[in-house]
Amino acid sequence: MPYPLFLMALLCFLAGACIFSFLNVVVWRLPRGESPLGGRSRCPACGRELTAWELVPCVSFLVLRGKCRDCGAKIPGRDFWVEALGGVLLIGCAVKFGPGTVRSGLTFVLLSLLTVVGLMDWDTMEIYDRFQVAILLCALAAVVVFPEVSLLDRLIGALCVSLPMLVVALVIPGGFGGGDIKLMFALGAFLGWRHTLLTGFFALFGGGIYAIYLLKQGKAGRKDHFAFGPFLCASAGFAIFWGDSILNWYLAFW
Ligand SMILES: [Zn+2]
Repeated sequence: MPYPLFLMALLCFLAGACIFSFLNVVVWRLPRGESPLGGRSRCPACGRELTAWELVPCVSFLVLRGKCRDCGAKIPGRDFWVEALGGVLLIGCAVKFGPGTVRSGLTFVLLSLLTVVGLMDWDTMEIYDRFQVAILLCALAAVVVFPEVSLLDRLIGALCVSLPMLVVALVIPGGFGGGDIKLMFALGAFLGWRHTLLTGFFALFGGGIYAIYLLKQGKAGRKDHFAFGPFLCASAGFAIFWGDSILNWYLAFW
């Protein structure tokens, strides 16, 4: 790889990691009723304000070996991986949709929203309506930015997974949360029906394996619930990057 390209990739990674570092703050603060913009991050254990270099994503975690410099409390490893994910996703969007294009920017915004929704749902089993609305706005923008997905395609996408989920939720109370259903409506409008079906399929597959794991480990009973949103969000990410390849591979059998 020529030197400037490597440098660009590194800067891209750091920018993505910085943005997702902020998303970590959002995911931590919103359920606690704090403003994500209110003041610099603190150590949750001792309350010490983090210094500027401690805010450098990924690097500071490695330098500090995952511990607070003052009180030694562990910094959640998840924060590190979420930051790294942000870096990888920004590079991924640039590679797939072209660096600096509106297409890559809009896709990165959607992936950021999905990351927040997935993590918050994992933590609190709740998806805030404001994020569904934001994803729906992304879908509206996608009408212009991704014109190859037709309006009809988007309408079917909005309904093809959310509607069956709604039916299941009505037949089996607590089968799916309302948040998951609204999420798939908004996401479907962004993705179009092919990638939406794929998202639903991956999520059921992943969620099913996770449910079996929980049962086998004795960590949950048959009546227990777990957050399904993270599986939907991660699956949508897969569909965005590899959906076409997977569909082409699959359709080659017919
Ligand atoms: Zn501390």
